[in-house]
Amino acid sequence: MPLAPDQLAPHEHWEQHLSAFAACFLPRRDCYAQQTSTGYRLVKAPLTLALVRDHLMGKLTLGAYALDTQSHARWLCLDADDETHWAELLKLAGFLATEQVPSYLESSRRGGHLWLFLARTSGAVTRRFGQHLLTAYGLDPQLELYPKQDHLKTGPGSLVRLPLGVHLKSGKRYPFIGLDGMPLAPTIREQLAILSHPKQVPPTFIERILTEVPVSEPVHHPPVTLEPRLPTPSDAHHLSERLKSAISVWDFVSRYVDLDAQGRGFCPFHDDHHQSFGVNASANYWHCWAGCSGGSIIDFWMKFRAARGLDSSFVATITELAQLLFPR
Ligand SMILES: [Zn+2]
Repeated sequence: MPLAPDQLAPHEHWEQHLSAFAACFLPRRDCYAQQTSTGYRLVKAPLTLALVRDHLMGKLTLGAYALDTQSHARWLCLDADDETHWAELLKLAGFLATEQVPSYLESSRRGGHLWLFLARTSGAVTRRFGQHLLTAYGLDPQLELYPKQDHLKTGPGSLVRLPLGVHLKSGKRYPFIGLDGMPLAPTIREQLAILSHPKQVPPTFIERILTEVPVSEPVHHPPVTLEPRLPTPSDAHHLSERLKSAISVWDFVSRYVDLDAQGRGFCPFHDDHHQSFGVNASANYWHCWAGCSGGSIIDFWMKFRAARGLDSSFVATITELAQLLFPR
């Protein structure tokens, strides 16, 4: 249900809302992306509020880069470009609502987006949270997540069309909607007021999803030479749960990484000069702020095996971990 295009008269809180909206959706201002007939073009010029205003007025269409210059995100956006995936996003929004976790549905020409707003969080942790979320609620693991990169290497990375503009193809403006399919607010300026101060996902929920929910592992068919101890994925899952409860992330990781009292250390997975690696003892996970991802002891050991040039599949990893932690 598109909004009428002529509801954007300036009003008294206009500048504040515009500025808060930009701060929320646009993590970097040193450059910006503008939609053209063939895709998005990177413009190496400062992103001004005048440009954001032009976007809302439908004079141009901006893209919102997902990561800032330090590869941190302020939102996670799930993208559905067909009816099937849109139904998945509606389902997820419904699940989150029952847990009192705020999320924002943005309809589009076909499909739409589900936005979750976070305190500034590394791209790696943001993506990991997104992947765990899909697993936790049994959704299609192929649903597209933005940011698409854990860490920027060259260029500004992935982007999502900045909401509340006018769609280039349909010429319409698409609103944020509630679970009932009705716009969150009837006018564009009221939508702007809501989306300039969206509610954030509680950090406790993020930690819970990150630590309690295993990411759905691709099914690895064990090579015939492997011991027949792991005949089925459910046995493998059972073993992975036993491994994770056998030792804390702190106790295990500190065998391989020197951690200070705060749990910080040099990352074993990249050339680290800044103590980018950390273990959160209370939430029982590790992560690398420079983008080497993070998670459980199994995730750690997978990367540790990969760094040694060994098979880093799930089965090979938990098989070796079982030998380490449950010696016969
Ligand atoms: Zn690292």
